[in-house]
Amino acid sequence: MTAKRNRSAQQLAGIDVPANGPTGRPRRSFAEPNQLRSHGPARIIALCNQKGGVGKTTTAISLGASLAGYGRRVLAVDFDPQGALSAGLGVAMHDVANIYDLMLGSVKDAHEAIQQTSTPNLDIIPANIDLSAAEVHLVNEVAREQILARVLRQVSGEYDVILIDCQPSLGLLTVNALTASHGVLIPLECEFFALRGVALLVETIDKVRDRLNPALELDGILATMYDSRTLHSREVLDRVVETFGDRVFETVIGRTVKFPDASVSGTPITEFAPEHQAAEAYRQLARELISRGAIA
Ligand code: ADP
Ligand code: MG
Repeated sequence: MTAKRNRSAQQLAGIDVPANGPTGRPRRSFAEPNQLRSHGPARIIALCNQKGGVGKTTTAISLGASLAGYGRRVLAVDFDPQGALSAGLGVAMHDVANIYDLMLGSVKDAHEAIQQTSTPNLDIIPANIDLSAAEVHLVNEVAREQILARVLRQVSGEYDVILIDCQPSLGLLTVNALTASHGVLIPLECEFFALRGVALLVETIDKVRDRLNPALELDGILATMYDSRTLHSREVLDRVVETFGDRVFETVIGRTVKFPDASVSGTPITEFAPEHQAAEAYRQLARELISRGAIA
């Protein structure tokens, strides 16, 4: 315990920069991705964790903007009635066609709900509080778990990546997101109770894979809000790596107030503070996903 504490104090002072990254594996840098020669069809990735405030929306925005910066055409789908993704990307969310209209079929053409953001290559389908009524309205629909998949099929040919920002629940909307996706990315806050609930999430993913979407993969677990100054963060991350091994991304997102600041400004961190290490962390996550082959 004391040894560990001493070590992190040394690290804090910059005396001993460890050869291993926070996940315990040797630090690697991921190559700059190639430009794509042709685009689409999109790989669809759901950002999922039924716990709120773990960094799903922040990851959708920052990873989306980073991938867009590497020339990938990205569509971000706001799938949370709170509309934080729409607000964080600074787009209109009221009196515009949104994901609820598409789910219910009151707007038939998904293109009508797509808005461009201020980031080139990054588009969004917004959501607002109307979406909270969707579960009730869809409960008696035929193939109610596959509605989002059908909506996204209309546009997936035009994008390289579609990121679905899920709401914090494991209800019908999240099942729709998992059914529509090729992969799941789980942001996990480096906090004491982080692992609680992950077993249930993994069980839900397994059920959706068995019953609805056999191709669904767990793309990885992203440790977020990591504070290198606290032993606590370090211990939680050690537990996460112990539990999930290789499924934990080497990229770890540190805790910084730059994220709330960026969301207030309605721009991704990669534009709000491009030189900040938090922006670089999300660019690294984009490179890691590309070099793992999860994204072309
Ligand atoms: P979720 O979508 O899982 O509910 P958010 O991405 O909205 O979580 O994050 C919750 C809050 O924490 C937001 O205010 C966001 O700005 C902030 N936040 C997200 N990631 C970080 C981070 N790495 N460091 C500090 N604050 C963060
Ligand atoms: Mg959110």
